[in-house]
Amino acid sequence: MLSICKQSFAAANARLTVRCLASIVPEAKIPDFGVKNEPVLEYLKGSRERTELEAALKATAGKCEDVPIVIGDKEFKTDNVQYQVMPHNHKKQIAKFYYADAKLVQKAIDNAVETQKKWDKVPIAQRLNIWEKAAQLMAGEYRAKLNAATMLGQAKTTVQAEIDSAAELIDFFRLNAFFLKEAHKYQPISENPKVTKNSMRYRGIDGFIAAVSPFNFTAIGGNLAYTPALIGNAVLWKPSDTALLSNWLIFKICREAGVPPGVVNFVPADGPVFGDTITASPHLAGINFTGSVPTFTRLWTQVGKNINNYKNFPRLIGECGGKNYHFVHPSADVTSVVNGTIRSSFEFCGQKCSACSRMYCPESLWPKVKEGLVSLRATLKIGDPTEYDTFTSAVIDDKAYKRIKGYIDHAKKSKDLEVVAGGKCDDSTGYFIEPTIVQSKNPKDKIMVEEIFGPVLSVYVYPDNKLDETMDLVGNSTAFALTGAVFAQDQAFLKRALEELKMTAGNFYINDKSTGSVVGQQPFGGARLSGTNDKAGGPHYVLRWGNPQAVKETFVPLTEINYPYMSQV
Ligand code: NAD
Repeated sequence: MLSICKQSFAAANARLTVRCLASIVPEAKIPDFGVKNEPVLEYLKGSRERTELEAALKATAGKCEDVPIVIGDKEFKTDNVQYQVMPHNHKKQIAKFYYADAKLVQKAIDNAVETQKKWDKVPIAQRLNIWEKAAQLMAGEYRAKLNAATMLGQAKTTVQAEIDSAAELIDFFRLNAFFLKEAHKYQPISENPKVTKNSMRYRGIDGFIAAVSPFNFTAIGGNLAYTPALIGNAVLWKPSDTALLSNWLIFKICREAGVPPGVVNFVPADGPVFGDTITASPHLAGINFTGSVPTFTRLWTQVGKNINNYKNFPRLIGECGGKNYHFVHPSADVTSVVNGTIRSSFEFCGQKCSACSRMYCPESLWPKVKEGLVSLRATLKIGDPTEYDTFTSAVIDDKAYKRIKGYIDHAKKSKDLEVVAGGKCDDSTGYFIEPTIVQSKNPKDKIMVEEIFGPVLSVYVYPDNKLDETMDLVGNSTAFALTGAVFAQDQAFLKRALEELKMTAGNFYINDKSTGSVVGQQPFGGARLSGTNDKAGGPHYVLRWGNPQAVKETFVPLTEINYPYMSQV
């Protein structure tokens, strides 16, 4: 009905001889570029990348970098001095930094609110070019430095750093720019553009976005802070204390690439001081968070309490923890199960949100799977991440060490649990915990259901004739739904698992390990307590930070208020 009215009204208007106005809404000039994932370099002996990495490691290890708070174009230091240490050699400090107090956080808010108004006016093409320049700097001149800071500061091995602080970080910058460019191709319907033109333009949100990032992925810090900025927001970035140096490098690279001062403000701070101050501001436009469930719950609760004070309804994105599973069917290929599980559970000490932390294995396959896991685990070198044959290194800090050791101590004491392999912990030099395999008779023991975020794999061995009951446990025994993998050769089972386990994981793998998502290939995120599932690395993520405006322009005057049928009485 409405559309008939609109058409006849438009037709009536079009019949009039009128002064035609032209559109005043400028068309966004979008550069035309394609996109592909950044290649992961191999670091073979004698390669250029290996030589460059070694030089960068030496330079980074040789000093303790002084990292200021940056608000707008000004640097600040406070009396609250902190240090980032190497997790695998905790006497060695690699960054000295300063906690912003509530006053400085407030100063950053004030600055961001003003900067946003100017930044939002910068043409999209110019912003896309800055992001491409940043990606080029990360891929070239700064690649080795980013990887060295990640290896030494977060104890990642060469390959783990390369897939994070090089490939994934670069992909976030390039692909989010690509997705934003693609989004501009959509324009609303204009039925008769000579009469009425409809258009859509993307704005940032007036106010500021708080980006609160975790320690475990350098790339996540870059994405949380810079993707909202890309679409026109101004950001306060609170990096993690234990990823400070690598995050600082991203900030500096982006400034060099042309991100103007104040678009992203670098604000290390005590978590609660930062959280309390941003949630109390009426200008809070959104929180882009990745980290643990308790922190996100606290932030959400504070936003709820302050909801009547805000200018906008703050957008809340939170990607949180997981209790990711490998579900093994009796028809599974044992080699894939064993290799995939060792990598997923123990690479980067299981400190990936997607790491496999629980496994369901049928009795018929357990002897072979156990033998494979135990013998392969025994070959893993745990040590200095800069040595090329190291498989994994230390966990991030003393808090993590105590938490993970607590679960292992529980396993050693419980009658339901048996430590099948590993279990030794030593924090004398670094926070080292052996990759540990625990067999649980109780599928609901806390070791099977809580996030440990460390190198502990818990296995429940199920009778082959209890497949259905065991599948039910996957979704019903934990609060998380981040990643999960099924291993089977039986196609009928796989089809069934695809449907029945649909709600148990935001990223679901078939005959592949539960880790290793790639930007643009497996957009990432989970539901339930694992987060808001906004799919970082997918096409919609950048748009979540946009504040689109629909504009209707009419080029002919409105000459009457009656509709044609009204004269036909
Ligand atoms: P964390 O929650 O301890 O810290 C995350 C960030 O929040 C840090 O910068 C911290 O300083 C800050 N923070 C702490 N208290 C705060 C407060 N009251 N207000 C504001 N900020 C506060 O998490 P973490 O140990 O750094 O990271 C590990 C967690 O992150 C794990 O649970 C892991 O599963 C999760 N994670 C999830 C994803 C995902 O995509 N789903 C990705 C990476 C990590």
